[in-house]
Amino acid sequence: MADPLSPWFVGAYGENNDFFERTLLELVRDHVFWRRNFHPDDQPPITTREQHGAPFLDGIARTRQELHQLTAKLKHSVPFFHPRYLGHMVSDLLMPGLIAQLITTLYNPNNVVEEAAPVTVKLELEVAAQLARMLGYSMDPAHAPRAFGHLTSGGTVANDEALWLARTLKLYPLAVRDACEHLGRWPDARLRGEDFELLNLSVAESADLLALVAAQPPDFRAAVEAARVEQVGLAAFAVRHPLVTRLAVLAPATAHYSWKKAMKLLGLGVDQLVEVPTCGGRIDPEAFARLLEDRAAARLPVLAVVGVYGTTEFGTLDAIDELARLRGRPLHYWLHVDAAWGGYVPSLFRDERGALRPREEVAGEFAYFPSERVYRATAALADADSITVDAHKLGFVPFGCGAVLIRDRRAVPLLAQDAAYVFVSGEEDDDARFRKPGRFSLEGSRPGAAAAGCYVNHRVLPLDAAHFGRLIARSVHACEKLFDHLTALARELSPTVALALPFEPDCNLVCLALNPRGNTSLRHANALTRRLYEAMAVQPELPVQLRTFFGSCTTVPLAQLSARDRARLEASLQLDLSAADDDGLFLLRHTLMNPWLLTPQAEGEPDYVEGYARHLTTLLKAVLSPGG
Ligand SMILES: *Cc1c(COP(=O)(O)O)cnc(C)c1O
Repeated sequence: MADPLSPWFVGAYGENNDFFERTLLELVRDHVFWRRNFHPDDQPPITTREQHGAPFLDGIARTRQELHQLTAKLKHSVPFFHPRYLGHMVSDLLMPGLIAQLITTLYNPNNVVEEAAPVTVKLELEVAAQLARMLGYSMDPAHAPRAFGHLTSGGTVANDEALWLARTLKLYPLAVRDACEHLGRWPDARLRGEDFELLNLSVAESADLLALVAAQPPDFRAAVEAARVEQVGLAAFAVRHPLVTRLAVLAPATAHYSWKKAMKLLGLGVDQLVEVPTCGGRIDPEAFARLLEDRAAARLPVLAVVGVYGTTEFGTLDAIDELARLRGRPLHYWLHVDAAWGGYVPSLFRDERGALRPREEVAGEFAYFPSERVYRATAALADADSITVDAHKLGFVPFGCGAVLIRDRRAVPLLAQDAAYVFVSGEEDDDARFRKPGRFSLEGSRPGAAAAGCYVNHRVLPLDAAHFGRLIARSVHACEKLFDHLTALARELSPTVALALPFEPDCNLVCLALNPRGNTSLRHANALTRRLYEAMAVQPELPVQLRTFFGSCTTVPLAQLSARDRARLEASLQLDLSAADDDGLFLLRHTLMNPWLLTPQAEGEPDYVEGYARHLTTLLKAVLSPGG
């Protein structure tokens, strides 16, 4: 049977090159046609006469030479497109979006504002709406809360922006109270509360406060603006409101390092990034609940909680449902879900009408997926206050494209930055404001080409199980197959080496650890695994063809492991972790994104996943052999 994904990729061998090349050529010509037909009567500024002159020919020759040198150097790039690449979160790209992005770049739209991108700002908003619906947010004017979203350069900036919005909204009630004190007017008695109480309003209550302020006279609104942290700065704000210096963001140690950057950037400080204990690479819900109770007892507010839907290192998913359920019990916080990695996985859970498919129906296609835990976390995404999605990971578009989605758009105007030359404002209705994403985004100029790439991909493969979800399913199948092969391999190798998966895979990323029999030293075990990693790592000076497979690695710090994790790993790897002769456990890490991992390497040969398992065995034998 024909493979339904076959039209969508250039292919490891360039199988679809005919279409790719022909379409690019056609669209480049079409672009030139467009240039020529904008005032065709004008004399061409570069005349044919010049094209025969020496300086021109010299310039063209130099350009060619430089481009050839560049493309020669680029042959040292990492072959992400190939099913022998199992390393980081990248694979071959979806061809429709790739062509769309390359061609749109010729038109160079800047999505900072429609004036500079009359076409692609609309596409960006449509892409954000598609993502929002896939995640369970409402884009329907008749169904509040109504979501808003836009594209970013990636997950880092999306996280920054979500936290920025969370902080802005969290501190807003204090600014309103300051304005009330200043003017001696109290439009709502609740504003007389203490700082801790005002820092513990729900997101909806804070958003309601915005409407209350909007209904006040101009002097009151001006006083609020003058008191906001964005105006006075965090230092001055904290003098009036000392509790602000203890405003914590709770995140597991498995959260991406961009959260530390965000804390630094917002002036909150890394010390206020409080670690939520994990177990099995996921937030431990009971420990999380205790942490909240302790903070509530000490009257310490929580700005935001970060749950990870697909951790970067282990692919594990936090219990988003639990994080959502505990809001307001007793502390209110902004719940952000960092789904930079897993953000497109929910496409597998949506039917063509956008409804959440029952778990049994999804499970019918897989051996293990989706666990009850994964299903509940997916269903609960709709309850998160904001979500980060990286299109340049499981969205299969080129780098430089992520998205931030906000569940209730009412707070978003708090981020607005006006600039007379960019955002020409007149009287505008509420909807018109939200059609200018550049007004709220952290970044200014942004590539409309990225929006076009996502847009075309989502048109040819809508974000549901029958379309885009097939790509995700492919990736999950490959993961399940690798899991089975590794389980078999662990049995086969057990007389000589212990092989264990430190955390049960949730979706499509697998890590493993190794330890030679008889050894209990962590350092020694790590040295063995590191040697295997080195045989599949990118080495800039080595031709990529010399590598059989590419993988990646990570280290779990021992301090990050729960007592249960430790006991399990000690037993399965027969290690003595109490000796602690190394800081963490070194792991091989595999991202299974390529859609062709389960095709045979050659006729009658095993598929790439099995081929990889065999390769591991070969490498291990070589490393373990005397003198190896
Ligand atoms: C990749 C990733 C990020 C960072 O995204 P960039 O696009 O690299 O900026 C943040 N969080 C998670 C969970 C990620 O996997």
